[in-house]
Amino acid sequence: MKPEERLAEWIGESRNIVFFGGAGTSTESGIPDFRSAAGLYRQEEELPYPPEVMLSRTFFMEHADVFFDFYRSKMLHPAAEPNGCHRLLAELETSGRLKAVVTQNIDGLHQKAGSSRVLELHGSVHRNYCMKCSRFYSLEQMMAAEDTVPRCKDDDGIIKPDVVLYEESLNQETLYRSIEAISQADLLMIGGTSLTVHPAASLITYFQGARTVLLNADPTPYDSRANLLITEPIGEVMERVGMMLSLG
Ligand code: NAD
Repeated sequence: MKPEERLAEWIGESRNIVFFGGAGTSTESGIPDFRSAAGLYRQEEELPYPPEVMLSRTFFMEHADVFFDFYRSKMLHPAAEPNGCHRLLAELETSGRLKAVVTQNIDGLHQKAGSSRVLELHGSVHRNYCMKCSRFYSLEQMMAAEDTVPRCKDDDGIIKPDVVLYEESLNQETLYRSIEAISQADLLMIGGTSLTVHPAASLITYFQGARTVLLNADPTPYDSRANLLITEPIGEVMERVGMMLSLG
């Protein structure tokens, strides 16, 4: 049996699926990840500082203009559309089999595909708040801002994206709900993540079920723990798995 057929079979037998994902789930939607050959970490020569430096709290506070230049040009992809991975996960939620998507992504593509049970460990580009008065701003408002550093129209405070920067803590409620979902799952699908960003990656160790599927193009530190390993592009794989499920 081909690995994809096995995955379709396991999905068909599961009632409590959780998907844990990362930037690789969105590369087929045209959003670069960090660590692939085409990822942002390989474009360092074009950047003024390494991405992990510019995405830190200290850097944001000290060089908001450079941060926003990088953030707008590399992290915002408002025209991106969901791919086969986002679509199948949304369908599995609708059919009642999938209980949660736990994602390290900030792009909002799972919600765009129709998922509502999405736990965003690192926040979202769609939420932005004034650092003085906490007034909310949408992604569209951020894109429309004329100044490099977007400012609140009420009090001129800097508008900070609700994304978790290096040196910042993860939201405790989101962490707790992610651990709860993963620990109760009967099938854990992990996809498009190098599993190197912590504490997010460590959450998969809370899984207590028997079937772990890892869908990732490059090797990860958790490959040996997977019951099924698939290295083909995740969007294409999930598209085909979706067709197998509707045939079966
Ligand atoms: P990562 O860049 O460290 O790893 C991505 C992994 O996905 C790689 O191992 C790569 O082999 C794999 N991959 C890429 N395309 C794939 C595909 N089509 N099919 C299967 N596998 C594929 O990403 P990460 O583990 O998510 O950690 C990076 C951090 O960067 C996260 O915290 C995330 O918040 C942030 N980030 C988010 C986005 C986004 O929201 N789309 C984009 C870039 C970075």
